[in-house]
Amino acid sequence: MSANNVRLQAIKDVEAYIPPAPTYAAEEAPGEIWGENVFSLSVMQKRLPKLVYKSLIATMEHSAKLDQMVADSVASAMKDWAMEKGCTHYSHVFYPLTGLTAEKHDSFFEPAGGGLSLAEFAGKTLIQGEPDGSSFPNGGLRNTFEARGYTGWDPTSPAYILDNPNGKTLCIPTIFVSMFGDALDHKTPLLRSQQAMAGHAERVLKLFGHRNIDHVVSFAGPEQEYFLIDRHFYLARPDLMASGRTLFGSPPPKGQEFDDHYFGAIPERVLGFMMDCERELFKLGIPAKTRHQEVAPGQFEIAPMFERANIAADHQQLLMTTFKRLANKHGMECLFHEKPFRGVNGSGKHVNFSIGNATQGNLLLPGDTPHDNAQFLVFCAAIIRAVHLYGGLLRVSVASASNDHRLGANEAPPAIISIFLGDQLADVFDQIAKGGATSSKEKGRLQIGVDTLPVLPTDPGDRNRTSPFAFTGNRFEFRAPGSLQSIATPMVTINTIMAEALDHVASSLEKSVADGVDFNEAVQTLLADIITEHGSVVFGGNGYSQEWQEEAASRGLKNLRSTIDALPELLSDEAMALFEKYSVFSHREMHSRYEIGLEQYTRSIGVEARSTLEIATTAVLPAAVRHQTEVALNIGAIKAAGVEVDIAPLAAVSAPVSDLRSAVSVLKDGLAGWTGTAEEEAKYAYEVLIPAMESVRAASDTLETIVADDLWPLPTYQEMLFIL
Ligand code: ADP
Ligand code: MG
Repeated sequence: MSANNVRLQAIKDVEAYIPPAPTYAAEEAPGEIWGENVFSLSVMQKRLPKLVYKSLIATMEHSAKLDQMVADSVASAMKDWAMEKGCTHYSHVFYPLTGLTAEKHDSFFEPAGGGLSLAEFAGKTLIQGEPDGSSFPNGGLRNTFEARGYTGWDPTSPAYILDNPNGKTLCIPTIFVSMFGDALDHKTPLLRSQQAMAGHAERVLKLFGHRNIDHVVSFAGPEQEYFLIDRHFYLARPDLMASGRTLFGSPPPKGQEFDDHYFGAIPERVLGFMMDCERELFKLGIPAKTRHQEVAPGQFEIAPMFERANIAADHQQLLMTTFKRLANKHGMECLFHEKPFRGVNGSGKHVNFSIGNATQGNLLLPGDTPHDNAQFLVFCAAIIRAVHLYGGLLRVSVASASNDHRLGANEAPPAIISIFLGDQLADVFDQIAKGGATSSKEKGRLQIGVDTLPVLPTDPGDRNRTSPFAFTGNRFEFRAPGSLQSIATPMVTINTIMAEALDHVASSLEKSVADGVDFNEAVQTLLADIITEHGSVVFGGNGYSQEWQEEAASRGLKNLRSTIDALPELLSDEAMALFEKYSVFSHREMHSRYEIGLEQYTRSIGVEARSTLEIATTAVLPAAVRHQTEVALNIGAIKAAGVEVDIAPLAAVSAPVSDLRSAVSVLKDGLAGWTGTAEEEAKYAYEVLIPAMESVRAASDTLETIVADDLWPLPTYQEMLFIL
């Protein structure tokens, strides 16, 4: 019987597994491979006529319109470069709202009389593609008879070559829109929102007297957490394969209670994988920088250097696909789900962000002079206003069925969106709020435009790890995004709410100046007004505590615990007005995002529910019944021998078996009765299916601690987390 046990077979396979030999020479220097697969600025400079290059830069930096001649010239240089490097195909790459990456490959070659000939790769092929859009989620934006979607080249994100042992493909980052121009992807609104934010940030800089102002952009530095497990175990866990998380599994005897993993030594096999990944990322021009072990066993983190938000978002997607692919090569599976293992630390993707430009630098960096301080405080105040007014939108930007396991559950950070400023900066704002000229603790009176700020610590030790939105010295860190999601979604929201806040700031200062108010005084008044009105979003205490939940409620801050609670934020009047005003989403597009959010939620829970049902029925229950039978036969045999026998062991297994049977039948009925409108189905998933799955899991997890080890079919938490 146990010979066919998948779990035991997996353990044997893991033991027999030999990791792949190193694939590159030790003497290879990172500098040599950096960006080797990227159609980078320096490649373009070398290969493009001067005027074409200049005009392309204008498009990249200032969104100037791209003309056909330039496109043709770029296309031809790009094709030559790619083919010299061995590419046979090209692909428009886009990011549909499934959260995945979509590619449609076309050959550079096509059949012609007398053999293969080179297909045309003209400007129009570079600029526009037409994949069949009908299978991508669109939230009602397209009827099937007008299913066409268009991809459009995004010149701000460099083209690159995807290396496969069997060939190479030129990848062209694109946006994806419907035939009416509605955004069907993550990138379109990100580019629009960057544009909106930049304009108002530049107005503010102008007020501060700057004349030479480069285009302002937002920067993002995502910290990606993930789990690695041996692939043999993964293949023996249909729940992981179907839903990305374990739907069964009792806690291991040893978990993460010793805190002995955080920054622990990285196992050799994992390090080999990481180095392989980093090498690939380097070739793609992705600046992988920090790597370390995370708090949970089998959990790790990689943080590339921050880049322009739109490029960081593309690179982040590319990083995830690279990790998935190379993990397989190293006999492992990379899990990006926010909560693959219950009771074990989950994974997030902290997004560090700042705004700035080449001429004024990082606008979230406290300055040395009183003038710089004032400017810094104004940008900080804008963020405080933005987060206070639109906390609900930040929350919905990270809402998903999988991230629900972190936010609002007993895990970092809470679903309540607040800001942590650190003691000194919070004190500065406090004092400003208390009336005009202010005093900071160390330095006495602090007057905007006259005094400098106290030195603000950038020491990580000072950070409040329980805050969802924290100032960390020269940037803010949004900690709520999930490990699985695209960072584009939260960045769209951050850019847009910043656009609104900076618009407000600029308009108010412009008016004061026009009214003849002294500029420093106008700034001081504005800061005081903002902090008085929006300071309730600043919180430095323990975000996990029960008291905070109550206090946040009394401060009027939203506590949107689940995706179901969060999604309606997208349809609020304020959200609609905001996104429309800054030309990021039309009302149609907002409705479509809402529909897709519901649909994705419902589908995820559906997959989990069906997977739970199937595994319980075909794997757990049969194992439990075999065990039960063995116990019963054994008791019978002892009885037959005339020896007194304790039947408690039979009762011990029979009770959870019967619990499991009834839980399975409740879940089955639950699935059968699941119909309604999109809202009803999502709500039903939340209220009926999730609890039904919970009951199945509870009975199964009890059985896992009872059933004979050689019968148990699913790799255990201990095996998956500790054997690597
Ligand atoms: P932590 O101590 O929070 O774990 P990490 O070093 O893991 O920090 O990650 C910090 C991330 O913040 C990196 O991606 C880094 O590039 C990014 N970062 C640093 N400075 C800025 C900045 N000014 N703007 C945006 N991101 C930044
Ligand atoms: Mg980190």
